[in-house]
Amino acid sequence: MGKEKKYSVLVVDDSDINRDILNTILSADFKIYEAADGIQALEIMRDSRKKIDLCLLDIMMPRMDGYEVLSVMNKEHIIDYIPVIVISGEQEADKVEKTYDLGALDYILKPFEPRIVRRRVLATVMLFEKQRELSYKLKAQMEENSRKVDEKTGLLSYASFFFACDTLIESGKIEEDYFMVAIDIEHFRLFNDWFGREEGDIYLQELADCLKEYTAGTRAICGYLGGDNFALFAPYSLGLIEQIQERIIDMLEKYGQSIGFGPMYGIFEARDSLYDAQLMYDNAVTAMSDIPGNYHNRVAIYDPGLLKKTGDELIMLSDVQRGMDAKEFRFFLQPKVNMLNGKIVGAEALVRWAHRTKGLISPGKFVPILEDNGFITNLDRYIWEEVCKWLRSWIDRGRDPLPISVNVSQIDVFAGDVAEYFEHLIKKYDLSPHMIDIEITESAYAKEYSLINKTVDRLRKAGFKVLLDDFGSAYSSLNMLRNIKVDVLKLDMKFLDTNEDRENSEKGISIIDSIVGMSNQLGLPIIVEGVERLDQVEVLTKLGCVYAQGYYYYKPMPLKKFEELIKDNSKVERESDGKVSNYKPLHVLEFLRTNLFTDSMINEVLGPFAFFEIVRDKLAVVRVNEQYYRVFSMLGEVTEDEIITSVDRLIDNNSDFIEIFNNASSSKSKSSSGCVIYNSPKGTAKKLYFRVFFLHEREGRKLFCSTIWDITDL
Ligand code: C2E
Ligand code: MG
Ligand code: MG
Repeated sequence: MGKEKKYSVLVVDDSDINRDILNTILSADFKIYEAADGIQALEIMRDSRKKIDLCLLDIMMPRMDGYEVLSVMNKEHIIDYIPVIVISGEQEADKVEKTYDLGALDYILKPFEPRIVRRRVLATVMLFEKQRELSYKLKAQMEENSRKVDEKTGLLSYASFFFACDTLIESGKIEEDYFMVAIDIEHFRLFNDWFGREEGDIYLQELADCLKEYTAGTRAICGYLGGDNFALFAPYSLGLIEQIQERIIDMLEKYGQSIGFGPMYGIFEARDSLYDAQLMYDNAVTAMSDIPGNYHNRVAIYDPGLLKKTGDELIMLSDVQRGMDAKEFRFFLQPKVNMLNGKIVGAEALVRWAHRTKGLISPGKFVPILEDNGFITNLDRYIWEEVCKWLRSWIDRGRDPLPISVNVSQIDVFAGDVAEYFEHLIKKYDLSPHMIDIEITESAYAKEYSLINKTVDRLRKAGFKVLLDDFGSAYSSLNMLRNIKVDVLKLDMKFLDTNEDRENSEKGISIIDSIVGMSNQLGLPIIVEGVERLDQVEVLTKLGCVYAQGYYYYKPMPLKKFEELIKDNSKVERESDGKVSNYKPLHVLEFLRTNLFTDSMINEVLGPFAFFEIVRDKLAVVRVNEQYYRVFSMLGEVTEDEIITSVDRLIDNNSDFIEIFNNASSSKSKSSSGCVIYNSPKGTAKKLYFRVFFLHEREGRKLFCSTIWDITDL
């Protein structure tokens, strides 16, 4: 027993003699306090200044007996730090046992042997002291643990994180609502495989930095639990999660926009503190099980009824990566044709996987899986670039290019700036945006309307034509066309099968009819895909459709075959923007949706006839029919260019010529007419009568049709 510290013993006995004896035995080693009954005893023990180290307790006492003292000591947790030895004449086992049950450490039977009492008191005090030391050490250790920080990330490590959370919860200092967030990086193992462990560490570091920075100055606790698992215990804020999300998506840009590697966030709302931190975290993890593969929503809040999704899709994903490295992916081209003359006007690039063992795999087998897991963007960007490369090489070989359309998945739009990427590509390969058309599937709009619309706007501003792919599939509504600003509608026959029974067939036709009607009203051209049979071609052309893509004309084909095909110029129809084209026949049906008129009828009935356009206050001729052509060639204008400049000549001579068009567009009846004098190069003056009808305005372009009569001799 150390000289420097004297332990204190409280002797509780109603007998003065017993107290004296015990005092005599123990006073050499201990400082002695005495109490004659239970009430006195408790008063002394509650007095923190007295620092009692042990209590010798009699059972049979007036006012309050030993059992009651033990009970109160339990209730007030005094028994936790003051050990009790009972000294009693009671021998009955039940009664002895009861004192042990109430927390007494030892039992000494009266009459006692003084030396033995001294020994047992000494032993108990020392034992208890040792225990106390041990528990101090333990506590110190725990506290140290709570400050233990993971080296790689600078965040609290596993045990420390939960210790810190529990300490905060127990402190009762939480005033607002908190949430526990489990953060897990999807496909992180794959990330390490693809980019290497070092990049993996950089990723972890970045996520840790995010957590630290965005929670600095708050009571939030951030932990790195090992592997790709992070945890956050913080005042409830979904905005905080959004911030982290945005920064990580930005960071993933340098890994090819693979949002499939983005973190998932499972949230447990800690409304009451009944749960300990570990349990909250476990629930947050459960919440997350719904997220993998859902790239629209990376955040899930705990709901007890969640299911877990598994998959051997991972094997497929690794195989895709291998295939990309081995350059097994390529694209086929499927021509788009003008149904009225069967000529090729462009093509769509469709990806194919030339698998080293499985042969040619069509996109239906792997594109949806890549989309589900957020990895389509790597592949898409690769294909887009391959298409640009091919166009470049085709032009370098002295050929005229045809516009090639590529598919853009909605995932691409989430993953990065699609418009910027296309601009980068055309710059890199020195192409014009008119050579690349962009197909975005209609279903994309159903999910992320505003984001898709923004991307489409930017693409169009950059000069790309955007096609709304798969129109007619489940999501479509005709009214949606009013809000979507695309250049071309791609109507899918698949969804409107005209083959089955008569009733269905008629229904399909009437759907196409109303889509065509609506798109004409909006001035939106249509291309029909999935055209397989002649009867479909007939129905479609009757309804006023002109362009198609389908097995009836061509199946998707390898590049070499496509090149062979378009080397033959007679099979190709090239659009020379806004020019009257000699070799391009006029098909009024493109403009007037009707199956009553044929081209020749219109030529005969309407006479000379042309379409005009006003763009930025400039009037230009867009298309003319044969009779119009005849009128002007008789006047000496024979070439295409002369036909075009004939308008300028008209305007030069007649300041009010353009007024006829302006009147048409502003008048209620949409029509207007007027006479103008035309001075031909031959030197003859002609009086021409124009009857103009305003068709529509789209993106600052006003379209008119007009009849022209030579009334010189009238
Ligand atoms: P999509 O963009 O609507 O492409 C048209 C699909 O219809 C192609 O299937 C084409 O081969 C098929 N097709 C064309 N004409 C006919 C026909 O007359 N009858 C029938 N039954 N089918 C016809 P494919 O090549 O298997 O592509 C399927 C889908 O995979 C595409 O539908 C597109 O959504 C997607 N896809 C293809 N290539 C890519 C790509 O590079 N990136 C992305 N993100 N998706 C792609
Ligand atoms: Mg497509
Ligand atoms: Mg399609």
